[in-house]
Amino acid sequence: MKKALVCGAGGFIGGHLVKKLKRENYWVRGVDIKEPEFATTQADEFLLLDLREEANCKAALTLPDDTFDEVYQLAADMGGMGFIHSSETEIMRNSALINIHMVDQASKMGASRYLFSSSACVYRNMQPGERALTEDEAYPAFPDNEYGWEKLYAERMALAYMRNQGMGVRIARFQNCFGPEGTWDGGREKAPAAICRKVASAEDGGVIDVWGDGTAIRAYTYVDDLVDGVFVLMQSDCREPVTIGTTEFTTVAEMVYKIIKASGKKISMNHIEGPVGVQARILSKDRIHSLGWRAKYSFEEGISKTYSWIEEQVKNLE
Ligand code: NAD
Repeated sequence: MKKALVCGAGGFIGGHLVKKLKRENYWVRGVDIKEPEFATTQADEFLLLDLREEANCKAALTLPDDTFDEVYQLAADMGGMGFIHSSETEIMRNSALINIHMVDQASKMGASRYLFSSSACVYRNMQPGERALTEDEAYPAFPDNEYGWEKLYAERMALAYMRNQGMGVRIARFQNCFGPEGTWDGGREKAPAAICRKVASAEDGGVIDVWGDGTAIRAYTYVDDLVDGVFVLMQSDCREPVTIGTTEFTTVAEMVYKIIKASGKKISMNHIEGPVGVQARILSKDRIHSLGWRAKYSFEEGISKTYSWIEEQVKNLE
């Protein structure tokens, strides 16, 4: 039985990844600074550790007489655009410390493979109508926020460990993941979850605020598809960064319309100023497709499951 360590297993994607690895018959240890918030972990073992501390990274990687076959590094000080723009120093410090110590300890402790969860935020701003950027076109680098710069640094550090220390490294750049059991309020939520919450909380016939004019272009990837992609990449021989995401590109306004449709309510949008992020992210998925992965869920299919889950959370609060 293969052994996997999932760092950030108390979080949204980490929690879903643990379930995926259990379905694939792995023995899984999950680690996080907090208990899973929305679901009981399916990990065989769950450790509460602050991975900014080197000794805790070592403890996370320690097994009696054995080493981990696969380490999935998803722990990060993380949130949507509101958080990314208001918490630059926390992101730069906390996530960098986690990544510096985890990759170093994983290499020293003899982990066979190490996957780093990077982000579409490593790419530059784009304009609608531009052709899709390949992974190599993250350079010359010009991310529009500090979160993207930290991810790029951590990618480069992991790749240096692969070249110099011989550890197998995989780099996954996630593009806008959404789904049930993700952060949906409190300031760290991402756009689809925030809109689901606003729609679920609104009266039928009401109005919701939407940041920006709705023309920004995104590709929202359903979490089950994303963790399947992560698994495919980990098993592959691909040593280059890989963008994982759907090829269904949509405007923010279309995303909001589809959420309103899923709710069955009549709601209108009030566009207000807010931290929208880049104007467009149009990224090639050819590399992940070449590994045999394709997104299975349309946005409408994924959001209907996500909306139902967030609606239930909102009702539970009332
Ligand atoms: P999340 O916030 O739900 O999960 C991150 C987890 O890391 C949290 O549970 C958090 O408690 C944990 N963590 C933070 N600091 C820690 C510390 N010091 N020690 C141990 N654990 C710590 O976010 P997510 O959406 O599941 O993201 C997972 C990874 O994917 C992150 O690296 C994120 O940057 C990356 N990513 C996510 C998206 C997305 O759309 N959700 C997009 C691109 C990249």
